[in-house]
Amino acid sequence: MVEKDGTDLGKRLYIKTYGCQMNVYDSARMADLLAPLGYHIAAAAGEADMVILNTCHIREKAAEKVYSELGRLRALKRARAASGGRMVLAVGGCVAQAEGAEILRRAPHVDIVFGPQTYHRLPAMVAGILAAPAGGAARGLLDTDFPEEAKFDFLPEAAAASPGVAAILSVQEGCDKFCSFCVVPYTRGAEYSRPVADVVAEARRLVAAGAREITLLGQNVNAYHGAAPNGGAGEWGLGRLIHALAEIAGLARIRYTTSHPGDVDEALIAAHRDVPQLMPFLHLPVQSGSDRVLAAMNRKHTADDYRRLVERFAAARPDMAFSSDFIVGHPGEDEVDFAATLALVEGIGYAQAFSFMYSPRPGTPAAQAPQLPDEVKAARLATLQELLWAQQRRFNEACRGDVLPVLLERPGRHPGQLIGRSPYLQSVHVEGSAHLLGALLPVRIVGAGQNSVAGVLEADVPEIGPAAAAVSA
Ligand code: SAM
Ligand code: SF4
Repeated sequence: MVEKDGTDLGKRLYIKTYGCQMNVYDSARMADLLAPLGYHIAAAAGEADMVILNTCHIREKAAEKVYSELGRLRALKRARAASGGRMVLAVGGCVAQAEGAEILRRAPHVDIVFGPQTYHRLPAMVAGILAAPAGGAARGLLDTDFPEEAKFDFLPEAAAASPGVAAILSVQEGCDKFCSFCVVPYTRGAEYSRPVADVVAEARRLVAAGAREITLLGQNVNAYHGAAPNGGAGEWGLGRLIHALAEIAGLARIRYTTSHPGDVDEALIAAHRDVPQLMPFLHLPVQSGSDRVLAAMNRKHTADDYRRLVERFAAARPDMAFSSDFIVGHPGEDEVDFAATLALVEGIGYAQAFSFMYSPRPGTPAAQAPQLPDEVKAARLATLQELLWAQQRRFNEACRGDVLPVLLERPGRHPGQLIGRSPYLQSVHVEGSAHLLGALLPVRIVGAGQNSVAGVLEADVPEIGPAAAAVSA
């Protein structure tokens, strides 16, 4: 794009990201991949030379939402062509993987459809599209393979541009568990762990660029088994990886998500006891409190297995707080099963949680089973959410009066307001000057709401390091 004064601004790229943190990570990598082709991030689709929809297929109507967005983009693409420009339109992520050629059939104005495991090939795909005359290409490009080569080996180093104080880092991808309800094994493919050396190198770069907290990401992150560094034999699990990351100077906090109960090992539990940088907060999805439903879901653990795991984490780290995912209305769930889920929630006491109505995903086993009526699912979800929200309010309320280390991440909506995170992932609002952004400071909690807590900076307290992250709850 050339401005009136002749300045070449390069090409503009707009990426709309749906769904999970892994998609957020992938979108950042796509931007890194396309930067050498001259693409800079645009603020809106209307000003972009290339638009990517990085999609999510985990729950209902995902594909329909993408098609309606593509309808809106068709008008923008036409307007751009009418003014002599060109917009390349690409659809990536899990809807692209699941729908494939159907996207090109229903939305012929799409230029590229690519899957989560082929986005490292984007530069070649874009070059191929741009080599064809605008409007002349007979059809769009489709690349939804599960290639032999590991995508991560072909990605450029993450850009040195600021990753923010709280950064994300994908260490593991895909899943071999095949829970009855879940599309991930089909859209993301087989489980894969990045080598330890690659993860540590990326973490070092993130810290050098200003990150103080890193969340390790994976669809099933605690299945991590990366090749040992320095030609060492065997593989490292997540616990050992966390120990290695904790040695990076300047990295104050480590988190990881999402874990499967079946892949928790002693080393991971011990890491919560031994690594002060590892936050005392765990998102451990259980999905249901009924053993019958857990078996139907192919979860390979019982409700009691899960309770025992929670107890072991809490024994290793007494101030540990827990979060989870729940699905209500899985095929076969009856009122007794649902009562078991409520009982499990009552027993554990969550700091926060996500809960969903079961949504049949095409191609998954549970989608073929007889379905529960929507009204039943909706009523159970409302009951469960009421209980979970009450627990979250209680947890936030219990922090009133505590002094928690808070990593100040971004300005708030009001002037003079800063927003940070407590060790327990609570959003903490404080009054403070913008120069404190990026600092990890003690904050006295003085107010508690449903989704956040309010605090005041403790006066005259020097910044605290990771060793002080263990907080008296
Ligand atoms: N790997 C994680 C685990 O084992 O629990 C979960 C990853 S999944 C991307 C995130 C959450 O979406 C799941 O924990 C589940 O609660 C929810 N989810 C997945 N498929 C769903 C479906 N078909 N209907 C409703 N919720 C679903
Ligand atoms: Fe999906 Fe998680 Fe089950 Fe894997 S373990 S199939 S990602 S819910």
